[in-house]
Amino acid sequence: MESFSNISLWMDQLDLPMPTRKSLTKDTKADVVIMGAGYTGLWTAYYLKLKDPSLKIIILEAKICGFGASGRNGGWLMGEIMGQDKLLSKYPLALRQQAHDILHDIPDEVARIIQKENIQCDFKKGGVLYVAARYPEQALRLKEFHKEVHKHDYQPSDHQWLEGESLEEKIKIKQAQGAVFNPHCASIQPAKLARGLADVVEKMGVEIYEHSAVIEWHQGWVKTAKASVKADWVVPALEAYGAQLKVGVKKLSQYHLPVQSLIIATEPLSEQLWESIGLKNGEVFSDFSRQVTYGNRTQDNRLVFGARGTYQFGATLRDDFTLNNSEIHLRQKIMIELFPQLRDVKITHAWGGNLAMSRDFHPHMSVDKKHKFALAGGYSGEGVGATNLAGRTLSDLILNKQSALVNMPWVNPQSLNTLSRWEPEPIPWLGYKAVIKSFDHEDRTLSNSQSSVWRRKLSIEMAKFMERFIQ
Ligand SMILES: Cc1cc2nc3c(=O)[nH]c(=O)nc-3n(C[C@H](O)[C@H](O)[C@H](O)COP(=O)(O)OP(=O)(O)OC[C@H]3O[C@@H](n4cnc5c(N)ncnc54)[C@H](O)[C@@H]3O)c2cc1C
Repeated sequence: MESFSNISLWMDQLDLPMPTRKSLTKDTKADVVIMGAGYTGLWTAYYLKLKDPSLKIIILEAKICGFGASGRNGGWLMGEIMGQDKLLSKYPLALRQQAHDILHDIPDEVARIIQKENIQCDFKKGGVLYVAARYPEQALRLKEFHKEVHKHDYQPSDHQWLEGESLEEKIKIKQAQGAVFNPHCASIQPAKLARGLADVVEKMGVEIYEHSAVIEWHQGWVKTAKASVKADWVVPALEAYGAQLKVGVKKLSQYHLPVQSLIIATEPLSEQLWESIGLKNGEVFSDFSRQVTYGNRTQDNRLVFGARGTYQFGATLRDDFTLNNSEIHLRQKIMIELFPQLRDVKITHAWGGNLAMSRDFHPHMSVDKKHKFALAGGYSGEGVGATNLAGRTLSDLILNKQSALVNMPWVNPQSLNTLSRWEPEPIPWLGYKAVIKSFDHEDRTLSNSQSSVWRRKLSIEMAKFMERFIQ
């Protein structure tokens, strides 16, 4: 039997042996068939069953529930989605405010459900801190961000500027020059959420088949190696993994481009070390560089720390997430720049996962009413909360319910025709390489205190120029 405990710290923390579910061996029928038992598939099944208990829903999962990004992520459950400000800026004030309310409510909605369903996933709503640290230029950029974000009609409390004691109450970072604190974020144990949710939907009557990879998907039916399912509705909830599904109605990688993010975890840290770091109330944090860092304190007092990842030519997925020394070192180096007191702690876990980016750099929740399939994704690294919203939205779209959710700007309520597509290779590969090289160069230049003023300025201008292509 394949062991899944090594795919992330989170899976390693689960009680073993994990319950295994049977695979699909006989042809069958359903109202809705969902491919993939990550958060998107599970939340969609949950809300569909809640709204219409009579539905027969089948989930087909290639490996085990939570095998993908849902069992591996950084544990930030955010009350926002990638690219929301740019997307919403085209809409009137009333709709923007309604959208903010919907997004900010995501962690509270998840809190309500996990309480109601008794899912123990170490949920703590402590907010997120974007901290200017490591080099002085982060402070300028963060102040610009703070000024800019207020143009988007948020409440002042949605993005609070903290410095000095008010910052140190939450996090103590060497040379921190200030932070923007957003209260709409919780931290969770990702695998416990995915596995707990799978148990809940199963109790509600959803049939989950594991080790049942879909190899073809068509209007009204999908096929695994051993059997097929006929269904009124088909929901590909595969995020990055859609790129591997070559036979079907649509080539999913044209909408969801797979990239990887990599992450490390320390051994459990002493109370004394935590006194010197903070994060007492479930706050998560990032330094305000273009390295997309994300950090989190776990229930068993480890520091989990991730940063930017990779893209593989041809939108191929990475299967082996045994990180090499340089991949571990890059994340450890940034972590130690933030917390030098962690220089000698052991890194006990290092892993990564595949996630997906949409061409518009914001997620979408879409339905093709004519061919009866519903698709959500392209969350980038901000899918833990967004998938809950996707589950609620896709269920309303499938059930044809007129709700506020289906009128949001990230929803395509009729067809996928308006969804942007990725260009063919080598454009994504060249673009990704160029952007990442400029970001890495900027970070190396700015974190080196010996870099001259003109080198620093040039590296920022290059990174800013490249950043425009991913917004
Ligand atoms: C390292 C990392 C850190 C991240 N950190 C954060 C974070 O802190 N906060 C945040 O908001 N987001 C984060 N994300 C993103 C977030 O985890 C994802 O957006 C989210 O989990 C996507 O859920 P999903 O269900 O759509 O996809 P997945 O969880 O990837 O689920 C897809 C499922 O489909 C299955 N599958 C694959 N092929 C087939 C097939 N042919 N047939 C059937 N099933 C198949 C897979 O095994 C998998 O279980 C992170 C992602 C990674 C990789």
